Amino acid sequence: MDFATKAIHVGQEAEPVTGATIVPIFQTSTYTQASPGVHKGFDYSRTINPTRVALEACLASLENARFGSGFASGMAATSAVMNLLSSGDHAVVTDDLYGGTFRLFDKVFARYGLTFTYVDATDPRNIERAMKPSTRMVWLESPTNPLLKLADIGAIAAIARSRGALTAVDNTFATPYLQNPLDLGADIVVHSTTKYVGGHSDAVGGFAACNDKAIHDVIKFHQNAVGGVPGPFDCFLTLRGVKTLAIRMREHEHNARALVAFLDGHEGVERLYYPGLPSHPQHDLAKRQMRGFGGMVSFVLRGGSQRAHAFASKTKVFSLAESLGGVESLICHPASMTHGSIPKEVRDERGVTDGLLRLSVGIESQADIIGDVEQAINATRTLAVI
Ligand SMILES: *Cc1c(COP(=O)(O)O)cnc(C)c1O
Repeated sequence: MDFATKAIHVGQEAEPVTGATIVPIFQTSTYTQASPGVHKGFDYSRTINPTRVALEACLASLENARFGSGFASGMAATSAVMNLLSSGDHAVVTDDLYGGTFRLFDKVFARYGLTFTYVDATDPRNIERAMKPSTRMVWLESPTNPLLKLADIGAIAAIARSRGALTAVDNTFATPYLQNPLDLGADIVVHSTTKYVGGHSDAVGGFAACNDKAIHDVIKFHQNAVGGVPGPFDCFLTLRGVKTLAIRMREHEHNARALVAFLDGHEGVERLYYPGLPSHPQHDLAKRQMRGFGGMVSFVLRGGSQRAHAFASKTKVFSLAESLGGVESLICHPASMTHGSIPKEVRDERGVTDGLLRLSVGIESQADIIGDVEQAINATRTLAVI
């Protein structure tokens, strides 16, 4: 079965009792047993729920994974995966990391005796150099947020494996439509389904998948033992969203490419970040590793911080908001929003300057999207020279 078909059908057979074509919202915490311990495979909804089972089967199929587990958020999924490590273990992590993941590692897991080394993962040799005898995990994002840097998942997973470490990839930005980390050699793939997978900015959720039964058993154990599970209604919303993931991703990319073509070489634009640009440092890797370049675009306008602020307040189609991956276009000023907790020197050093803007290009009309960016560039033109 191809991707678009799997998204609509896997895990979603007609409900056996009523024939309901759409997976129902099994809004129940418990299940009636025939006699003690005799039930239909469902005993308690933290442990197992039919709506969640359907979502897990569907998302696992999209990542070509044997096993999948649904979570209440991307952070809950990440936490479950990190439970594969024990006190004293070390992880090598990409330095251009989702802020919440950094906070989880730095403020929570570090207190339990895990140690972390952050490296620029655009060069696999940096990963290799950071490995220690105690390294058990390599944690990657590709493309990263907000600079859209890529990591060579296959090369890095091979290095990790040769040293006895697992490789986990947060695939939120690419989505399984554009990239399948397990097929590239990674051991675990993680998603914030809050973003493209759900796609409508109406549900928070997470997901983790793998092919190894022993790894799955640990993640599943943590899902039940810690209990960061999604409710049946959120599973339903995510499953409804995922049905259109293929068509949405095509449109996100179609619009992003048109916007990039408009911004590329524009006199108001100082820097432009998009993996689909031949000038992107990992453009060749993007072509090899991904099936497209996605809907995220970052750029710096001439006029720096002041103009970036003004621009972000002037857009009308693009809402100024955190998050990404919904059908609606969003604009974010990372330095004061998503990345505000990182010290300015560190931000500047990593390229997340005060003039940087990040766009999640939605699936509204292409003309309206480009028109909105154009009017906001024009409206802030006087700030170009300071
Ligand atoms: C949003 C996000 C997360 C966290 O997911 P939540 O669902 O908000 O917990 C993790 N990684 C990336 C890349 C994200 O964009």
